[in-house]
Amino acid sequence: MKALVYTGVGQLEMQDCPDPTDEFVVKVAGCGICGTDLKTYQKGHHLFRPPTILGHEFCGTVWKAPADCGYAVGDPVLVAPYTECGKCERCTSGTPEMCQDKSYVETGAFCEYVGMPASYLQKGVFRIPEADDAYTLVEPLACVLNGMDHLRSKSPRRALVVGSGPMGALFALLFSTRGIPVTVIEPARLRREAVAGWGIDARESGPVEDGAYDAVIIAVNKRELVTDYLKAVADGGTLLMFSGLGRDEMVCMDAYSIHYREVTISGSFGYAMPHFRQALDLVGEHREQLSRVITHEFPLEDGKKAFELLAAGQAFKIVLHP
Ligand SMILES: [Zn+2]
Ligand SMILES: [Zn+2]
Repeated sequence: MKALVYTGVGQLEMQDCPDPTDEFVVKVAGCGICGTDLKTYQKGHHLFRPPTILGHEFCGTVWKAPADCGYAVGDPVLVAPYTECGKCERCTSGTPEMCQDKSYVETGAFCEYVGMPASYLQKGVFRIPEADDAYTLVEPLACVLNGMDHLRSKSPRRALVVGSGPMGALFALLFSTRGIPVTVIEPARLRREAVAGWGIDARESGPVEDGAYDAVIIAVNKRELVTDYLKAVADGGTLLMFSGLGRDEMVCMDAYSIHYREVTISGSFGYAMPHFRQALDLVGEHREQLSRVITHEFPLEDGKKAFELLAAGQAFKIVLHP
């Protein structure tokens, strides 16, 4: 099969790779480029050593299935890239996204076919009406829903999203589909104007009103933003560190806000299956609105061009088609 292989930092090459030999095989229709894929391409990643195939936000059609598994060849399906075990200490204590024994789809999806064992069917494969690009948004949206779960107020009166990369943009769209007034801070003009075009308040920079937002989402990996935007959180509100910072990075915060104003600082990483199922429903309900975040599509062969476009901040979500 054809595959876009990550062969080292800054390198992606089309190669001929062996077809998967697993019991269940999905023919990839589209796969979104995730922030993690981009980070790996730009700087390398300890979990993805080259040569390897990246990409985990994909949907497609069944290509091969065991008899009586409930799926037939040609059925449109969505695959969760990983699922929690449901049994470990983390899973049973209410934080399944931190599961210590996750099952993963072993290979990436920037290629024609992805295989998995039949045992994965019950846990991480979902029937969808059609293999539409919108379903590639379910995984990133599941991560956004996990972030939403970490907000102390489940129905914030006002929300602030700092940074509108693809994930910040999804947060903003989700707040707006829920009727929650949201402001986005985004210095890059192209992204800011796109968000404004969706009818969302988008500003180039702060200052923003002190104590005005029940939820502040930091969707850029710059630690000083946590310090800067803590004052914008309302009493009893939450600042969510959605973007990941390095292991050794320290954040400075004003202690007054934490104690006297009961501001919660939280973080979120990945998703658990309840978020994934909820995200699947949401994409079904708000397909058109959420799809705005997909600004480009490219054939797999032009994958490198797509990564470069994202690196330059010239796109939100890009979906690659084999
Ligand atoms: Zn992702
Ligand atoms: Zn677990």
